[in-house]
Amino acid sequence: MLSERMKRIKPSGIRRIFELMATMEDPINFSIGQAHYEPPEQLVEAACRAMRSGFNRYTVTQGLPELNERIRAAVATRTGHQPQASIVTSGVSGGLLLGFMALLNPGDVVLLPDPNFTMYRVLAELCGAEVRFYDLYPHWQPDPAQIEELVDERTKIVFMNSPSNPTGGVLSEAAVAAVVRAAERVGAVVVTDEIYDAFVYDGTLPTPVGRYDRVLQLGGFSKTYGVPGWRMGYATGPTELLDAMKTLQQFTFVCAPAPFQVAILEAAFDLDMSPYIAEYRHKRDRVVAELDPAYQLVAPGGSFYAFPRIPGPAKADDPSGVDGAAFLDAALEEKLLIVPGSAFSRRATHFRLSFAVSDEDLTRGIQALNRLAARFG
Ligand code: PMP
Repeated sequence: MLSERMKRIKPSGIRRIFELMATMEDPINFSIGQAHYEPPEQLVEAACRAMRSGFNRYTVTQGLPELNERIRAAVATRTGHQPQASIVTSGVSGGLLLGFMALLNPGDVVLLPDPNFTMYRVLAELCGAEVRFYDLYPHWQPDPAQIEELVDERTKIVFMNSPSNPTGGVLSEAAVAAVVRAAERVGAVVVTDEIYDAFVYDGTLPTPVGRYDRVLQLGGFSKTYGVPGWRMGYATGPTELLDAMKTLQQFTFVCAPAPFQVAILEAAFDLDMSPYIAEYRHKRDRVVAELDPAYQLVAPGGSFYAFPRIPGPAKADDPSGVDGAAFLDAALEEKLLIVPGSAFSRRATHFRLSFAVSDEDLTRGIQALNRLAARFG
């Protein structure tokens, strides 16, 4: 009954953890990919008002013109570069699908970071593209020479995601410059997923926006405002590409959710989210300090994830792999939910933890991880 393409798509490893969680009493959930806080009250009020005032119909495909203007102004303020065009998408997920479909021919090459947010690979393969990986291990920065080597005339997209899911890494200025340089040499498009742009803990976020005329920038509201269920995101970049994505949106998503477009326009841009970010910076500092010295861990510069190495000696038959399965089973016995690195990577040496949890759960989870390290280290 099912298509050939479904043979190549397995259910997400993260969803499987969600299902496990439902069977557990009082689990410590370090597997979650969304902020733990409720959205600010003004935003919820604005959404309710929008529904009561009749914003329940379709909007124009590209999203409300005033919202697009605010988005482009916000991107210009952050990056110092005014984007040519924008559309409002159904989450960054929606923007990824439209962007990939608008850019990729079967046989084109897409360069992805390893590790990465798995949706990229699945969507690229749905478009018939060939995926190649550039390595971010062990410091969550690419090796410019490796990117140069991987890029060729068939390369259509050089992808970057900073701050990163799952590593928490923020790409350096030099790394971003290297990505742009490699793409520019072959005329490929840089697609940059900046959904975690608000969660940057040290300094400002280096971005390819404004460095090259073929940059598709994807941004979102899910993470920053605690509204992943609203399915609100946006894409900015060259007019030709954004027009194509708009045409595809006409025949797929139609438009992003109307009441939430109105709510974001009315309330989001004037909200001061810095106290929320300061709270997450503090959680990041705790993870780094309290998992030391038991774990090999690069301090996350952004997002709300850390990607530590699984403790213990390397397996004799696979020097690059440690016994991840045993570690993850032991974590489950501790009622601790984490995501195996293999859900994001060709390697199984690391695991993802999300510190988007309450301070109490952070304490419990760190204690459980330190007990596990004592057993496995
Ligand atoms: N990109 C990254 C890196 C993410 O972590 C996520 C959510 N887990 C998304 C995109 C998708 O976000 P949304 O569709 O809710 O905007």
